[in-house]
Amino acid sequence: MDAQARILKLRKLIEQNSYKYYVEDNPELEDWEYDALFKELKDLEEKNPSLITPESPTQRVGGISDKFETITHKNRLYSLDNSNNDVELKLWYNRVLKEISFESNKQLNLFSENKNHIDIEMACELKIDGLAVSLTYEKGRFVQGLTRGDGIQGEDITNNLKTIKAIPLRLFEDIDVEVRGEIYMPVSSFKKLNESQIKTNQKQFANPRNAASGSIRQLDPKVTSERDLSIFIYAAIFDKKENILTHTQALDKCKKLGFRVNKYSKCKNINEVIAFCSEMSEYRKTLDYATDGVVIKVNSIAYQNELGYTSRAPKWATAFKFPPEEVWSELIDVEFSVGRTGVVTPVAVLEPVNLSGSTVSRASMYNFDEIQRLNISIGDEVLIKKAAEIIPKVVRARKTNKSKKLILPQVCPCCNTKLVEVEGEVNVYCPNKLHCSAQVKGRIEYFVSKSAMDIDGFGESIIEQLVDKGFVYVPSDLYKLTSNELMQLDLVKDKTASNLIMALEKSKNTTLSRFINALGIRLVGKESSDILAQNYKTINELIDAKFEDLSLIAGIGEKMAKSIVDFFSDKANINLVYELIKLGIKITNRYSFENNLRLKGKSFVITGTLGTMSREVAQEKLKALGAKTPNSVSKYTNYVVVGQNPGSKAQKAKELGIESLTEQDLISLIKGE
Ligand code: NAD
Repeated sequence: MDAQARILKLRKLIEQNSYKYYVEDNPELEDWEYDALFKELKDLEEKNPSLITPESPTQRVGGISDKFETITHKNRLYSLDNSNNDVELKLWYNRVLKEISFESNKQLNLFSENKNHIDIEMACELKIDGLAVSLTYEKGRFVQGLTRGDGIQGEDITNNLKTIKAIPLRLFEDIDVEVRGEIYMPVSSFKKLNESQIKTNQKQFANPRNAASGSIRQLDPKVTSERDLSIFIYAAIFDKKENILTHTQALDKCKKLGFRVNKYSKCKNINEVIAFCSEMSEYRKTLDYATDGVVIKVNSIAYQNELGYTSRAPKWATAFKFPPEEVWSELIDVEFSVGRTGVVTPVAVLEPVNLSGSTVSRASMYNFDEIQRLNISIGDEVLIKKAAEIIPKVVRARKTNKSKKLILPQVCPCCNTKLVEVEGEVNVYCPNKLHCSAQVKGRIEYFVSKSAMDIDGFGESIIEQLVDKGFVYVPSDLYKLTSNELMQLDLVKDKTASNLIMALEKSKNTTLSRFINALGIRLVGKESSDILAQNYKTINELIDAKFEDLSLIAGIGEKMAKSIVDFFSDKANINLVYELIKLGIKITNRYSFENNLRLKGKSFVITGTLGTMSREVAQEKLKALGAKTPNSVSKYTNYVVVGQNPGSKAQKAKELGIESLTEQDLISLIKGE
């Protein structure tokens, strides 16, 4: 293929994939695959400059949807050029040095190691993998927020941005400023969001970046407000009179104004930059947000102005990209395991490979739909990715001459019962709830787990033996176990047996929310169990609850309500509840129903130190009366309790006009005075 034809093909491919990424938040390519296409196009265009057109993706930034009103940015937003390794970083740095006229800017941030070599100061920051926005403040008030869009125009998402607690609506100074930052979703929240998407049979997000972008670009700000989003500000355009001379001074000023700014480092030569990048590629693994590199910026704003921009990126900055955490391996087999609810999950068995420092021999494939979507065969080469999840996942497959068709099981790999599909769900189930031993074991494991009955010592191997020996079949059997039976298990001597019996005894005093969770009702997890315990005084009330009432409870919804009603319409489940109670389980509801949870729906934020109780105890007491106790102030906060040495929350509450309470007010409120 000649250069022109290849250029046209690459442009088309890049444009199609940019649309999927920027507009639909649903990429098909991995970022590094996209980057490789982009680099190939850039290299080809550099060799054939006469073929460059203004429409080429190498000359443009991002993309824009027609979902929101589009508004022209006051100051253009750019992308960043990449450096993929130390050599490319040095090349970029040398280009920068060559283009600066040091004579005219002698006074600025120069470091001279010897008289033949001049270095300049650079600011290095983590590159957050999210979505760029620009926020405009007038006289200290947040007035407009736009996405980067195509850099010239952005989408107006002001109302959605106002729901993000980390974006101040009012600054600490009445100042005019435009700041730029990256909206992101913490990795832990991304995982939770995907879990709930699975539960409600909705599409999962590919990564935290797509989840953040999809969440902030919702037409209904209420949906955005329910997603956990945050922001780091990484640039600001101040009025000249502020006399900001360097990028790091701008960041410091942003911090003072009340913005969230990530830590940065000043480096005085390229070797320090390289050391910082290498340090960050380890450090980033400890963070709860996704990062894809380090951004290196010339610190002096005068030099930045001198260096200027290409058609899509500043010449004074570069993004050092972390190497991808992906690797190809061979798919040796696929194993199918059955969980406590009967869902059959495929797991890839791999030729062991090293993936960012650890050996991986198994990877997740989620469900049967995913196998079909990836068109996977045994013997394929499969791409394994260490994504936000702890367990690596298979993201792509390519055929080899060893590939042979993967036959999906029709019967349960544990009990041979014919598998069933449920309409509208991506999962396949084993319907043999009562006698499939994988499900029995899964239910017992769940029953003893930390957030359920919290029974110490009952690990996987003990449960497996208890079920295989026929000692335990339903959770209530656990409370009938004798020391003699326990001592028949491998590695269990009298001391371990008596510890296990003690742990069982200890677990008998439990709370209603733990008890509900332990029953293992499909779709009902720890948080939903809490909500149910706040709405029903006793387990009997929950057993009698009607679908219509359940489905109206915030956080429960119709699917879960149906699952709860179905669960209690099964006599075996009711018997299980009563047998557990007969065996001595005492259930207390820590939520008080006096005066009908009189603080229900109210939100309290506590700031500073309380004299008579810890903050956690105060939060527990408030929650027991139905209140919510988030950690930060927002327009949804009803009261701020101000203790000694309060933090910035007190100030923010004042600005938002939120009523503040003293510790004494709080105590009176809890006592119902
Ligand atoms: P980019 O993400 O590589 O770099 C520019 C962006 O970095 C800025 O707009 C800003 O949002 C962000 N950023 C984060 N922290 C920053 C900081 N501290 N300082 C300055 N900027 C910071 O460029 P891009 O143009 O947004 O997109 C290209 C990226 O998108 C590539 O990584 C590419 O792989 C990916 N992409 C992937 C696909 C796909 O199909 N997988 C398609 C299109 C784009």
